[in-house]
Amino acid sequence: MSKCAPQEALRDLDRAFRNFFRDRKEGRKVGFPRFRKKGRDDRFRLTGSIRVRERAVQLPRLGLIRLKEVPRVQGRIRSATVSREADRWSVSLTVERELPDPMPVQGPAAGVDLGIDHFATVAGDDGTVATIEAPRPLRRVLRVLRRRQRRHSRKRTGSRNRRKSALRLARLHRRVRHIRRDFLHQITTRLAKTKRAIVVEDLNVSGLLKSPTLARHIADMGWHEFRRMLAYKCTWYGSQLLVANRYFPSSKMCSCCGHVRERLALDVRAWDCPVCGAHHDRDVNAARNLLAMAR
Ligand SMILES: [Zn+2]
Repeated sequence: MSKCAPQEALRDLDRAFRNFFRDRKEGRKVGFPRFRKKGRDDRFRLTGSIRVRERAVQLPRLGLIRLKEVPRVQGRIRSATVSREADRWSVSLTVERELPDPMPVQGPAAGVDLGIDHFATVAGDDGTVATIEAPRPLRRVLRVLRRRQRRHSRKRTGSRNRRKSALRLARLHRRVRHIRRDFLHQITTRLAKTKRAIVVEDLNVSGLLKSPTLARHIADMGWHEFRRMLAYKCTWYGSQLLVANRYFPSSKMCSCCGHVRERLALDVRAWDCPVCGAHHDRDVNAARNLLAMAR
């Protein structure tokens, strides 16, 4: 084993504590750094002389490791992270390279509302409204996942059958993760490359208010990743990302006259404005309000 693995792990631990104390000092609510035990989420990071070959990667102390994929690397390799997902291993390389400042994107500004029924509703200032659905295979796999989870929990602890079902479950989790990640990559790239400005709502609000069910937890995971990807891709491709204030009533305000409703139940999908009479689809209205912030 390379000396890097424990070194880098300690570096991560150091950063975890620094962040924890800094955030606490600034009065933010943060959890104590969590211990990551062996066997769950296994990974280690290596630095030093890392080289990429035709279909292999050369790692310090480990030597030449064959790959399933042909690596595409541009720039200077800083580190390699080797990780395990269920029964598969992968390596990701961190590279450093200079990127030219992107040209500002020529395209409409857009408001993006994230929801449960549809993954996202996008309203553009060119008058277009589009709904983005989460991929169907994801929903199908999630159903199977719930069933397997149940089945797994009935196996006796420490038994061979439990181990087997744990692996099956882990593979399924991996699949769900990959389908979701692929979907998120596709939509965030498309948005960042085609919209001049993108307005999204503050996640704390949308996450907490919309639905207290399991569906929310599932969607929630996607939302944070969506925001994270969108943020860095906007800088890459030259789009502008704006985040609405957490008290901005994106759902409760009429996008025609600006009237703000006192309340709007979670299950109300459509409503009529009592002041101007406009008929609103809940998500489309929210997306339009967010769009208005871009102006
Ligand atoms: Zn109105």
